[in-house]
Amino acid sequence: MPHVLVTGGAGYIGSHACKVLARSGYVPVTYDNLSTGWQEAVQFGPFEKGDLEDRARLDEVFARYAPVAVMHFAAFSQVGEAMANPGKYWRNNVCGSLTLIEAAVAAGCLNMVFSSTCAVYGDQDGVTLDEDSAQAPLNAYGASKRAIEDMLRDFEASHGLNAVIFRYFNVAGADPDAQIGENHVPETHLIPVMLEAIEGKRPALTVFGTDYDTPDGTCIRDYIHVMDLVDAHVLGLKWLEAGKGSGVFNLGSGTGYSVREVIEAARAVTGRAVPHEQGPRRGGDAVRLVSGSLRAERELGWRPQRSDLGVMIADAWKWYQRGPYRR
Ligand code: UDP
Repeated sequence: MPHVLVTGGAGYIGSHACKVLARSGYVPVTYDNLSTGWQEAVQFGPFEKGDLEDRARLDEVFARYAPVAVMHFAAFSQVGEAMANPGKYWRNNVCGSLTLIEAAVAAGCLNMVFSSTCAVYGDQDGVTLDEDSAQAPLNAYGASKRAIEDMLRDFEASHGLNAVIFRYFNVAGADPDAQIGENHVPETHLIPVMLEAIEGKRPALTVFGTDYDTPDGTCIRDYIHVMDLVDAHVLGLKWLEAGKGSGVFNLGSGTGYSVREVIEAARAVTGRAVPHEQGPRRGGDAVRLVSGSLRAERELGWRPQRSDLGVMIADAWKWYQRGPYRR
């Protein structure tokens, strides 16, 4: 069976990708330094511990498995942290990706599926975003991803590297079998933070900003189920293997929910109150990020199946109750 090198395979999205790759006829080889990932999440193929910036280690892993493609998930991804510590984002995300790309082309592995983000667009009030929307990232996280997209285009021109770039909207939910799920320490993303507040693991969820120019004053995001998201990756991989070249695709549901609507959905799904309080805006937050594109559906045949908000929260809740990995 063909091998796929999965950087960040021990993380939230990467581990779900490994599960789906394994049942799609591939062997996912996880490459992860476990800085934020979990060894327990590596259940679907071999594990190679290593840093993105360790070129010798990458060369060894490429030589050992001769992967048909790389799925590159490994990155830091928190807006708040990126505002406070941009150097961490530029170094790890950009320099790490450069080392990985150089190792891939040197090994003759010219297919890459790359995790980018809707944060590359920044704030474009009121408009839904398609792949040709202007790019104006508001934080070092989005800026680092945009830089890597540029890098991939340069290596396409110079070395024939083919890249499928996926710009994720807000990824949520968990494996419906609750075998793996989302587990960040510390947790900062809205839905898991909310579940922690429901369970009393934190006193309350702080709503970051209630004076935005939206119907209820809170930010609007487009949530997409992690299983739907990783299904798109397998389609992207097949696209590359079919020799269709590079492509950029938004991955979102096309529906936006405000922070208050997500809180209400969680109350309905769990039947429990969501302790929350109003707080100031978080630096680097866009007001509204909603995908307006059907390109992935049209060109890849991607059809989200589980991206109903209630289903996403229910799957996350099931995983949360089962008991996430603990340090
Ligand atoms: N958010 C919030 N309180 C939290 C975490 C997030 O109000 O404790 C808001 C955040 O301001 C944004 C939305 O929830 O409007 C989604 O944030 P998250 O960090 O989950 O994802 P991001 O959009 O930054 O990728």
